[in-house]
Amino acid sequence: FISKKEGRGQYRVYSSLNLHDDFSTSLELDLRRAIDQNQLMLYYQPKVNADTGTIAGVEALVRWNHPTHGPIPPDRFIPLAEESGLIIELDQWVFRSVCEQVTQWHRDNRMPLIVSVNLSMLSFQHAELPRYITRVLEETRVDPRQIELELTESTVMSHLDLTLSTLRQLKEMGLQIALDDFGTGYSSLSYLSKLPIQTVKIDKSFIRDLTVDCGDQTIVKSIIQLAHNLNMNVVAEGVESADQLIFLREHQCEQIQGYYYSPPLPEPDFVEYVAQQQAELLV
Ligand code: C2E
Ligand code: MG
Ligand code: MG
Ligand code: MG
Repeated sequence: FISKKEGRGQYRVYSSLNLHDDFSTSLELDLRRAIDQNQLMLYYQPKVNADTGTIAGVEALVRWNHPTHGPIPPDRFIPLAEESGLIIELDQWVFRSVCEQVTQWHRDNRMPLIVSVNLSMLSFQHAELPRYITRVLEETRVDPRQIELELTESTVMSHLDLTLSTLRQLKEMGLQIALDDFGTGYSSLSYLSKLPIQTVKIDKSFIRDLTVDCGDQTIVKSIIQLAHNLNMNVVAEGVESADQLIFLREHQCEQIQGYYYSPPLPEPDFVEYVAQQQAELLV
């Protein structure tokens, strides 16, 4: 059933998922505090060139270490943040933090990697987004070409006319756009070719059983072919084994992301990972 949420004039749908038990409600309040008080953290997961094994980019993933409940996974609190509208602040916090981190890396003469930031549908459709991004890029003096926005297929495919103009605007500003969790939504293929998107990320559900499931193999091959025909790059997410890597490499998938190379890492460990790789290249 639908009920009116106190104070903010928003409607929320109570689902059988029971997202709105007392625990979730108090979690929502805690999350607001967590954003205000900088309790959230970013982890960084490398994206690796399938051919060379060298690092090609990195995705920032938000982490919440709750003061009493301990670490809470994004799959638990992102949906809560989306339902309460808090996601806009959360995503803005992530974007700003990433830009500040990029500036820091520059100051330390670290490799200039493209850093990817996830945006939820609500954040992407928020009218202030382009202005917010412009302001933060200016304030932190980050080159927009160094930032990639990851939008899910369903985010991009809903409200297509609005989406298209926002995407064009972001592209004009110099940002990269990637289509996340590809294959799980309902892409209109005729629209896909019109979107200013550089990269498609194959959802990890197609990678998990890739070496044994012929259906998944067909899907993955088709996505790679489709993306290449549209002049887009392909990233496979959730790659955990050498066999999966070999299949993807054989089928010309450009980039690999997954535990096989590295899980998401706290910033110092990520810097260490990059430094170690650079040292190996020098040998
Ligand atoms: P995503 O953007 O598709 O991120 C990939 C997820 O796969 C991450 O989960 C990552 O830790 C996980 N992963 C990476 N390699 C492997 C692997 O080899 N095997 C498996 N099984 N999993 C792997 P995480 O960090 O828990 O994030 C889950 C989702 O939460 C993300 O999916 C994204 O949709 C959302 N999310 C995370 N950070 C943010 C954020 O800052 N803003 C928004 N709006 N959403 C975020
Ligand atoms: Mg992502
Ligand atoms: Mg994904
Ligand atoms: Mg996801």
